[in-house]
Amino acid sequence: MQKIIFATGNAGKMKEIRAIMSDIRLQGSPAEILSMKEAGIDADIEENGRSFVENAVIKAKAAADASGEPGVIVLADDSGLEIDFLNKEPGIYSARYLGEHTSYHEKNGNLLERLKGVPQQERTARFVCAIACVLPDGHLLTELATVEGFIGYEEKGENGFGYDPIFIVPAYGRTTAELTEEEKNEISHRGKALRAMKEQLKQYYEKR
Ligand code: IMP
Repeated sequence: MQKIIFATGNAGKMKEIRAIMSDIRLQGSPAEILSMKEAGIDADIEENGRSFVENAVIKAKAAADASGEPGVIVLADDSGLEIDFLNKEPGIYSARYLGEHTSYHEKNGNLLERLKGVPQQERTARFVCAIACVLPDGHLLTELATVEGFIGYEEKGENGFGYDPIFIVPAYGRTTAELTEEEKNEISHRGKALRAMKEQLKQYYEKR
């Protein structure tokens, strides 16, 4: 079976990725989706790119090199939250905002504090997700997708991870932490980027 390694150590992301990618078929056959840990890759990858796409490419290439397995497909994502009122902070630094080991309760609280008194129409924000894919022949594929919304006034909801409790999706009037996994994957930046990547991969393998 074709192995697909997803280069992330984030359990929240991996759960979403498995749900979205589980039905992938390459040349009619299912594929096995593995996390870096399951694939035995222990790489400490420095994200020193200047954009989401650059960072996703850095991660996918580094994990492909570290895997040492020639036949595998390696995918990586780089994602984050852009808040317009804060000049698109935390952006590509979303995971490192206030330090990598600071809890999301603190990170979210800090962002809500920085937006204190800011009216709803100026609280616009988006989640962004870039996906990069390194194929066994070295070919590189990329995708970028977003979901638009706004920052709420307090943390709400228990689902998801990271900044989900403060990000409100207008169509639902709820935070992404209040959506079910299926509802979030349907509209999310990661859901959109992964489905587009699945399509690119399918087309690439059909041409061979
Ligand atoms: P990365 O692992 O370097 O791509 O960091 C992405 C960071 O962006 C995560 O650790 C979260 O802080 C944030 N993030 C990305 N996607 C989401 C999401 O779907 N919900 C909440 N936070 C997210």
